[in-house]
Formats: sequence, structure tokens, C-alpha cells
Amino acid sequence: MSEHYDLIAIGAGSGGLSVAERAARYGARCAVIEAGPLGGTCVNVGCVPKKVMWFAASLAHMLHDLTGYGFGRCQPGFDWAKLKAARDAYVHGINDWYHTYLADSNIDEIPGTAVFVDPHTLEVAGQRYTADHIVVAVGGAPTVPDIPGAEHGITSDGFFELEEQPRRVAVVGSGYIAVELAGVLNALGSDVTMLLRREHLLRSFDAMLRETLMEEMLSDGIDILARTQVKEVMREADGSLCILCENGQRLEGFDRLIWAIGRHPLTAGLNLAATGVEVDDQGYIPTDEFQNTCVDGLYAVGDVTGRAQLTPVAIAAARRLADRLFGGRKDRHLDYENIPTVVFSHPPIGTVGLTEDEARATHGDAVKVYQTRFTAMYHAISGREQKTAMKLVTVGAQEKVVGIHIIGIGADEMLQGFAVALRMGATKKDLDDTVALHPTSAEELVTLR
Ligand code: FAD
Ligand code: NDP
Repeated sequence: MSEHYDLIAIGAGSGGLSVAERAARYGARCAVIEAGPLGGTCVNVGCVPKKVMWFAASLAHMLHDLTGYGFGRCQPGFDWAKLKAARDAYVHGINDWYHTYLADSNIDEIPGTAVFVDPHTLEVAGQRYTADHIVVAVGGAPTVPDIPGAEHGITSDGFFELEEQPRRVAVVGSGYIAVELAGVLNALGSDVTMLLRREHLLRSFDAMLRETLMEEMLSDGIDILARTQVKEVMREADGSLCILCENGQRLEGFDRLIWAIGRHPLTAGLNLAATGVEVDDQGYIPTDEFQNTCVDGLYAVGDVTGRAQLTPVAIAAARRLADRLFGGRKDRHLDYENIPTVVFSHPPIGTVGLTEDEARATHGDAVKVYQTRFTAMYHAISGREQKTAMKLVTVGAQEKVVGIHIIGIGADEMLQGFAVALRMGATKKDLDDTVALHPTSAEELVTLR
């Protein structure tokens, strides 16, 4: 006998939990199936533990700044294992909270790995479950390259398991995870080398952001090797790692190598063939704007769809799907345009909308750009030279703001409100007409000339 639900979510991460939670509020009978801990990537091996490490790294930077502000030199020891224990306890607290929350919300929690039997039937540990609506929210996993010795490296998942701080680390990759983990490790005292297969960090970001970040990371002491593709990794007799590169370079003496070269969707084990849902050439599940797959009653949300792989995106798409299926809001769907994003680098980046290059490619000479570069007041006497850079990309006679790009102290908290303004169609004049907050870095965005 199989158990029947109105909705089953496969995966209790940001997307799966959100769709079940919203659907249950409308009175739907829901279950979530989860192969690992509740909360998925964000809670367990993503945003949450990463942000804890980012806070620790930011504190380490501030310790350097103390003397500029008149304090005596301060060199408190740093205990990686203690921080990890506190971080793990925090994450476990969130896991526990979710167990209670699901029970309180009348959502059944089914532990195990789900496999499709047919479009409306799933099997978990020999037990079958059916549903009118099944939402695939299985997320993804870090990619490890298919090269000799790749197994000697770890991924972001392994980074969060480290009981000891690595002394000398190679970070391979140039995206979000590479710059975030490299920044954290460097600030906490590890010797960090980044290996970029091409020229730039964060290649798809506005040039001002990636160039400023590169300068700041170099000035913080991170060694960045561009155009350096790893060919092979070897473990030496003394236990250290040696990296052979395509360009003939041989890099030695690392105690850890972190692969941060992207993620892939966890669709291979789902037996989607039993449903008629086809994946794209990278394994992602294509959906229409309503999160529908090509099979009725089957939906996909979050990272598994291959679109903006961010927690708030998974949550927003999931909630809107539940609103549509059970809340009578037939047109409810997520608008994937102008999604703001923050990179927790040092300094952080906040960005929304079109890059300058994207705007010029679409709007040509109608684009007008305003930008500034300055030392934030905090750094005037911190003794640590760090730049803040901001850019507004506008189009047309009205100078409608189509892109906002910020790097610098506070950028992470600064962007959210400006993203609202951009989404509402703000023009440069609207920003100019807004009275500044002084003294802040944010005021520069409403006083650009
Ligand atoms: P997930 O959260 O990955 O959840 C999928 C769940 O499905 C997992 O728990 C998995 O165990 C489960 N599952 C998979 N297959 C099955 C199966 N067959 N049966 C049952 N269960 C299954 N985003 C941000 O917005 N801000 C950040 O600061 C940020 N930092 C990040 C840092 C790191 C290191 C990483 C890796 C990601 C980060 N992200 C961040 C991205 C964010 O974590 C993801 O976009 C988000 O978790 C996606 O949610 P999801 O529901 O699609 O998938
Ligand atoms: P990203 O897609 O951000 O970056 C991976 C980069 O690695 C690629 O863009 C590519 O850059 C480079 N790369 C790919 N293959 C190789 C290879 N074989 N060798 C060397 N470099 C390679 O992936 P991440 O893993 O960093 O993060 C995954 C996703 O998780 C992000 O896209 C983001 O959506 C999300 N995330 C969000 C965060 C946040 O919101 N703050 C934080 C962390 C993750 P190039 O082509 O230029 O070489």
C-alpha cells in the first residue's frame, strides 16, 4: 500500500521545505523526502556555515585595524576547532528546529533517497508514496574534475568538515565559492594560492567589481595565478600535495586543495526516465516560468533548474508555486529578472541588474554610467588601505537604473534596498532626489555625478 499526499517535495533544502510549508498553510497534505540533514545545502554546507566563517574572517581583519583606532596591538590566538564546534552546534540547532517545525506544520518528514517509479509515485527505502503534485528540489553537489589525483582535493563540503586549519591551501576556481573560501582562509591566517583557468575572478560580474576584488585579494596577500589549469594532483611522500599545471608549472607544499569549479544537479539517481522528464546536457531539469516540467503534476525548483543558484531564489520560486497550486493564484510565478546577489568576499560585493558590458550590448549609446571609487571612512584611519567602488548603469533619456554594482565594506547590507528601487524602475533622478544618509558609504549612490 502506498501513502497518498497532495504534494511531495523531494529534498528538504531551501526549495523543498518552502513549497511544502506554503502548501501546508493552504491546507494541503504534504511530505518532504530528504536523504541528508534537514535544511539542505544552505543550512548545512552553504550560506549558513559560510557566513559564520565570513564573520570570523571579518573579525580577523578588524584585529589588524585596532591599532589605527588607538587600541594596543592585539594578537589573540585563533582556535579553528572551537569555531567549528560552535558553528556545527548552530547548524544542528537549525536542523532540530526544522524537525519541530515540520511536525508542527503537519508536514510528514520521510528520511531517505527518493526514486521515481512513475510520474506520481516515489519509492523510498522500499516504501511507496504517491502524490498529485511532486516537486523536484534535489539541489546539487560540488563538481570534482576528472583528472589524475583529483581525489586528493576536497570541495566546499570538505572545507566545512575540516577539524584543523590548513596551513597552505590551493583553491581551484574563480566563482563565488572560490573567492569566498579563499578570503576566509587568508584572513584567518592560511597561506592561500588561487588557480584560475582563465584571466578573471567572477567572470560574469561587472568588470569594475572583478578588477577591484582582484586588487584587494592580491593586496591582502592571496597569490592568484591566472591562466593556470590543473592537470594532475599528486600526494608526496611527506603527505603534502603537488599540483602539475597544463602550462608546465609545478606547485608544491600544499596541505589542502579545494575544488571550487562549480556544482552539478543531483538528478542522475532519480530515475527520471520513469516520468518522461528530460534533463538538459548538464543534468538540469528545464521548466517553464511556472516551474512546470514537461510532465503534468511534476515541477522543479531551486538549483536543480540551473537558474540563479541562490537560496532566496529557490524559496521564492517554491512559495509562488504553492500559491499557484493551492492558493488559487493562477498567474503566480517568480520573475527571474533583476535578482540581487551578494558575494561574501573581502571586501563583499553586492550587485543587481545588468553589467555595463551587458547594457552596452543591448542598449548601445543609450547607456550612461556613473561610478566612484574611494576609501571608506572606516579605513581612513584603520591603517588598512581598502577601496570601495560603486557603479550605476543607466539607460535612455530618463536614465533608468538597470544595474547597481558595489564592492566595499557594507556592500552586502547596502544592496537590498537599492535592489527594490531598481526593481520599481528608479531613475538616476529618483536617486538624486533621495536625501543622503551621512556619513555612510551608501550615500555615494545617491550623490553620484
Ligand atoms: P538544496 O538546498 O541543495 O537542497 C536539496 C536537498 O535535496 C538536499 O538536502 C539533498 O540532500 C536532497 N536530495 C537530493 N537528492 C535527493 C533524493 N533523491 N531524495 C531525497 N533527498 C534528496 N546562496 C545564497 O543565496 N547565499 C549564500 O551566501 C550562499 N552561499 C553558499 C555557499 C556554498 C558553499 C554553497 C555550496 C552554496 C551557497 N549558496 C548560497 C547557494 C544555496 O545554498 C543554494 O542555492 C540553495 O541551497 C538551493 O536550494 P535547493 O532547495 O535548490 O537545494
Ligand atoms: P560558480 O559557477 O560561481 O564558479 C565556478 C567557476 O569555476 C566557473 O565560473 C569557472 O570560471 C571555473 N571553472 C569551471 N570549471 C573549471 C575547471 N575545470 N578548472 C578551473 N576552473 C573552473 O560555481 P561555485 O562552485 O563557486 O558556486 C556554485 C553556485 O553556488 C554559484 O554559482 C552560486 O549561484 C551559488 N553560491 C552563492 C553564493 C552567494 O550567494 N554568496 C556563495 C557560494 C555559492 P571560468 O570559466 O572563468 O574559469
